Amino acid sequence: AEIILQVENVKKYFKVGKKDLKAVDGVSFNLEKHRSLGIVGESGSGKSTLARLILGLIPPTEGDVKLLGKSVFKVTKSENYHLRRQVQMVFQNPYLSLFPHMTIGKNIEEPLRLHNIGTKQTRKSIVLNLMEQVGIPHYYYNSFPHELSGGQQQRVAIARALALEPQLIIFDEPVSSLDVSIQAQILNLLLELKKEKNLSYIFIAHDLAVVEYVSDLIAVMYLGVLVEFAQTEDLLNEPLHPYTQTLLKSVPVIGGEILNITISGEIPSPLNPPSGCPFHPRCSYKKEICTKEKPILKEIKEGHSIACHLY
Ligand code: SF4
Ligand code: MG
Repeated sequence: AEIILQVENVKKYFKVGKKDLKAVDGVSFNLEKHRSLGIVGESGSGKSTLARLILGLIPPTEGDVKLLGKSVFKVTKSENYHLRRQVQMVFQNPYLSLFPHMTIGKNIEEPLRLHNIGTKQTRKSIVLNLMEQVGIPHYYYNSFPHELSGGQQQRVAIARALALEPQLIIFDEPVSSLDVSIQAQILNLLLELKKEKNLSYIFIAHDLAVVEYVSDLIAVMYLGVLVEFAQTEDLLNEPLHPYTQTLLKSVPVIGGEILNITISGEIPSPLNPPSGCPFHPRCSYKKEICTKEKPILKEIKEGHSIACHLY
């Protein structure tokens, strides 16, 4: 299948005083068209920074990101305009991401207008069609964002992201600010849209139960690096990295009870990362080499990669 996204050893360090905060510290993967990739990690693992790098919103310290074969960091102004059409983002807080003084209709229409697509009339019919696709009744066309519930607002944000028919959509924690009962509805909407529109997307969350539900592939992120990458089924049936294993033990069931197993210890600060394997202070399998050498991500079975000295 066609590869739409190539992430090549991308790094992003932020200067904090005299120190480097290594938010993303060498991430590589490819994503094929029509596939959905879930990126799961605790807060501070670098997920959102990685998303901003993929969108070309911040320059990398090192490495590259290519969308449809073109670096998102080396684009001319007109290429950038084109690129902005190809990748869209849906954020955690839908209310903050919508224009509060614009109607629902205008919010969804905005990217079409910015990209000079259609006439006023044809844009209106595109918008009404998008509203149907995301389950927002037409009578909300002239309503304002504050008149809608959080779940409905997120549907509107999704409709707006779909408007330009992008090649890739990045969802950054799109359900974490919503009630649990609403979360499942939004996730089901994503699954429907994926099937109907052959969407390619990246879904970022701290909750593995949410990620596994909507992703063909899962990347597990820890302190700026990927520690495991596999097809969702393989990762769930045979989690290989000790961190993934602990994550799976602490997975809450969607809409159900949260099992009371947690990983011992907090995630260390990316400003002061552990030597060697970043997971070693919390790992019950650690060996001597683990405190000294940083393991690199290796494919050990077809499509299943892991960064751990046990393998
Ligand atoms: Fe644990 Fe060592 Fe593997 Fe890191 S490399 S996860 S410390 S066994
Ligand atoms: Mg985040």
